[in-house]
Amino acid sequence: MTEILIIKCLNDNYAYIYLNDKKEAFVVDPSEAGPVIDTLEKNDLQLKYILNTHHHFDHIGGNFELKEKYNCKIVGSKKDRDRIPGIDIEISDGDYWSFKEHTAQIIEIPGHTSGHIAFFFKSLNAVFTGDTLFSLGCGRLFEGTPTMMWNSLKKLRALPDQTKIYCGHEYTLSNGKFINSIYPSEDMRLKIESLVELNEKNLPSIPSTIADEKKMNIFLKADDISLIKNLGLQGKSPEEVFGYIRELKDNF
Ligand code: ZN
Ligand code: FE
Repeated sequence: MTEILIIKCLNDNYAYIYLNDKKEAFVVDPSEAGPVIDTLEKNDLQLKYILNTHHHFDHIGGNFELKEKYNCKIVGSKKDRDRIPGIDIEISDGDYWSFKEHTAQIIEIPGHTSGHIAFFFKSLNAVFTGDTLFSLGCGRLFEGTPTMMWNSLKKLRALPDQTKIYCGHEYTLSNGKFINSIYPSEDMRLKIESLVELNEKNLPSIPSTIADEKKMNIFLKADDISLIKNLGLQGKSPEEVFGYIRELKDNF
């Protein structure tokens, strides 16, 4: 059985725990240890690995405490070997990292940070995208250019349609409101209604899927002719269109 648990951390972060039927687990982006430990203990799990998508505090904040308590190993980008606390296993683009029968393909997706990576588990039908691809959005460009981020998002967009997206934050509703403000549609209006309902029940909007994001996420559509026309950006390159949308979002 495949199980990925969604753990709320800090204000709007998610950590994710994968567990197998032997009760062995890995956690992705533990921003804080407390809620992760609670879930591990409640389910009687042994934590074997921590996977970090990038070095920001709200993704690695629980590293040391969890490593000390469970003696687990920490997996992160070789490019961030000096920025990921406690890193044991350094990985790069195109590498494979395995947890028992499941193997992740490592995809470097710079833009939000220069060393950002995604973990794509084909056999789990899941990709952990950190702060690069959100549901209906993408991360801010702290350490990269629009071109870098657009290329990274295209790599994620090329994953199989049914792949479930586990991202770093619950930003979906505000992302949807942004999209609706610059490119309104009936589909987005209905999506926002359903997101408001989830929000009221305090339920996560995660996971999304690659298919849904290709349909709804404006940041994956910077090469979409009808969007470009609608924004009055005819003749601009996808990189320029992406940069324009990203800047609008920064000021939303
Ligand atoms: Zn971040
Ligand atoms: Fe973050």
